[in-house]
Amino acid sequence: MNLVLLGAPGAGKGTQAQKLVEEFGFAHISTGDLLRAAVKSGSPLGVEAKGYMDAGQLVPDELVINLVKERLGEKDAQEGFILDGFPRNTAQAVTLDSELADLGRSLDAALLVDVKDEVIVGRLSSRRTCRNCGYTAPAGVDVCPRCGGEMYQRDDDKPETIQHRLDTYHTQTEPLVQYYKGHSILKAVDGDRPADVVYADVKASLGL
Ligand code: ADP
Ligand code: ZN
Repeated sequence: MNLVLLGAPGAGKGTQAQKLVEEFGFAHISTGDLLRAAVKSGSPLGVEAKGYMDAGQLVPDELVINLVKERLGEKDAQEGFILDGFPRNTAQAVTLDSELADLGRSLDAALLVDVKDEVIVGRLSSRRTCRNCGYTAPAGVDVCPRCGGEMYQRDDDKPETIQHRLDTYHTQTEPLVQYYKGHSILKAVDGDRPADVVYADVKASLGL
């Protein structure tokens, strides 16, 4: 299954992706994780991306598209992938479609994890992330339950950046809901419920 996850920052895309990976073994391609790894490594791409990320803005398309292209070419992605955080605007969606078409592949579904803004703001401001593996949990968890790494607050999970990311989501990413509706592959689940309940719905809507 080749899947795109849509939804605001903090909607729970990463959590649902993780569950699908554990159960079905699809490759999880998170552009946020790829970019944070680039920032941590200090690569030229990471240095360029960092300023945009800290400000809650989208990183320029060509940087992100190249990362995704490379990742889609890796072996584990041939059996099926979950794109998490990509595409984030129409240009990225169009590029993805043509890139996949060149490879003789296509998307099976675009899944919207739908959560209201008020809920998002609360979730993001109390979110902590593992420095080592990217696992997320509410504030109060200081050691990563998955790998023992240090939990920290991402710079872009601070209040002044959250509203900006939500605005970016509404203006640039949300139009993709209509885009994928037009391609007849849109599915949607209510993300404002416990993760396991959402997951049951995710599987049902994907026919898994
Ligand atoms: P969230 O979904 O919680 O906002 P991500 O981890 O997906 O966080 O992304 C963090 C940041 O990385 C974004 O705010 C943006 O700056 C950058 N980023 C991630 N994916 C993309 C993308 N597809 N296009 C442009 N920028 C991206
Ligand atoms: Zn961890």
